[in-house]
Amino acid sequence: MTELNKPVQTQGTTPASSQQDAVTIDAGTLQALVTMLLSERKEQMEERQAKKEAYLAKEKQRRINAKFMMDQKHKSQSLCTHRKGGKSGFNPAYVNYAISHHTYVDASSTIRCLICAMKWMPGDTKEHLNRKDDNGNIVKLPNHTSWGWADAYAALKQTTNTATASEIVLNYRAEVAHAEPGIDPVK
Ligand SMILES: [Zn+2]
Repeated sequence: MTELNKPVQTQGTTPASSQQDAVTIDAGTLQALVTMLLSERKEQMEERQAKKEAYLAKEKQRRINAKFMMDQKHKSQSLCTHRKGGKSGFNPAYVNYAISHHTYVDASSTIRCLICAMKWMPGDTKEHLNRKDDNGNIVKLPNHTSWGWADAYAALKQTTNTATASEIVLNYRAEVAHAEPGIDPVK
């Protein structure tokens, strides 16, 4: 490609002073070179376009699959009784919910069903779930379960599962409880 950096001369316009160094490219060669470069460029653009289309098609399919999975998950969560025992061992007189209360490091908490993986968060009502969207904004989503946070919280009284917490919160609780007995540090 160093040829390109040298002065391009066309016949008849060559200045006499640079005539010895100059590489003369005739109009036909120049035309062929331009055609070749344009053709290469076109191929690159077509290749890029094909890649882009393939990516978009794949992404579209991924979204369809993700939506299908989410719909299935929501369906199972809306049908789940969140109770242990299943169909065979189901005893209406003894209710044992398959839910667990978890407290995170930042003291926020969730109640999760261990069967359907539904998570309830404080502020969730029977009608709406408060969730972050892709941009981190809190949005109200329709609640596909019959429980809000209050229902899930009340159901904790009827479970044999123990509450869990992230380690730092446990340590923090232990330390504060030791320093100030009788005070619940989380509240
Ligand atoms: Zn459930």
